[in-house]
Amino acid sequence: MARKRTVAFSRNAVNLFFHLLTRCNLNCRHCYINPDQHGTRTLPLETVRRWLSAFQDRRRETNLVLLGGEPTLHRDLARIIRLAREMGFGSVTVDTNGYLFHDILERVTPAEVDYFSFSLDGPTPAINDPLRGEGAFDVCVAGIRRAVARGFSASLIYTVSSANIDHLDRMGPLLMDLGVERFFIQVIGLRGQSAVKQAGPPSYAPEQVSREQWIRVVPQVAESIADGGLTVVYPKVFLARGEAFACAGRVADNYFVFPNGRVYRCPLCEDYPLHSLVIRDQGLTPAPPINEADLFELSIPEGCVMNRLVQPGNIGYGPDGQPLYQIACCLLKEELQPE
Ligand code: SF4
Ligand code: SF4
Repeated sequence: MARKRTVAFSRNAVNLFFHLLTRCNLNCRHCYINPDQHGTRTLPLETVRRWLSAFQDRRRETNLVLLGGEPTLHRDLARIIRLAREMGFGSVTVDTNGYLFHDILERVTPAEVDYFSFSLDGPTPAINDPLRGEGAFDVCVAGIRRAVARGFSASLIYTVSSANIDHLDRMGPLLMDLGVERFFIQVIGLRGQSAVKQAGPPSYAPEQVSREQWIRVVPQVAESIADGGLTVVYPKVFLARGEAFACAGRVADNYFVFPNGRVYRCPLCEDYPLHSLVIRDQGLTPAPPINEADLFELSIPEGCVMNRLVQPGNIGYGPDGQPLYQIACCLLKEELQPE
């Protein structure tokens, strides 16, 4: 079987994040889906076919990620996966919360799906479920076991926040026991519903972690999990003064397609009508200025321009008024390979 590929957070990568719908059975505390900005449609199969065609030129380089909402709620997901394969996309990944609706594991094969990418935010139900919903841990873990038993490759996304950073180091043994191959560590952003949701126990209000916490915990845990045999991908988030900064909007090709036809190149822009492209049945067209593409060209000492605009609280300044560090692009990450 050909070597499995999936989303790559590196320079020159081409990733197509295709949101088939925004509906979901869960209501996670940090969910970034924003129906006001992203729409509420479930895209019909024919629309998906036409919209995917707009990205066919570089299809062999392109890592396609099918996501939602919860993409397994889409009745035609198996047909969409097959269609993407026929069209020749370089890899096909399905991001799921693990509920795996419509018997998706029985309707596709490991030759058709490179990775099922699961989301879990804690090593136990006590940590995960207050963030993702009662019972979500057990369902997700059972889903991973079923997928791996059927021969699928599994990856796992853990969104780090103040509510779960102290438990990140306990993920290693669980991931190895489950047979997960790739571990993606993400940082919580103040995007979408996560920015406004207030429900739930205050002790579990997931907030961004400080620079000190991030640097103390995340790189070390990533290394120890990679030592255990997994590929680990994590964002640096905080660059040291003088460390090279790059904006993926300039050095990579990422497309985030939403059911209302907006296409963003930067996930931090997704809460605003700043998309640089629009997709319709006729194809992909540029959105009118001013949009995110204008921001990619700016150079500021704080690093990421959008971070400076939407979450300036995570930047520290010295007595000279200069930032103490830069914020890295959230689309360019470190990748640790197992020995
Ligand atoms: S984070 Fe994912 S699983 Fe959770 S509510 Fe949002 S779309 Fe659903
Ligand atoms: S997150 Fe910042 S650095 Fe990355 S693409 Fe967006 S604007 Fe550019």
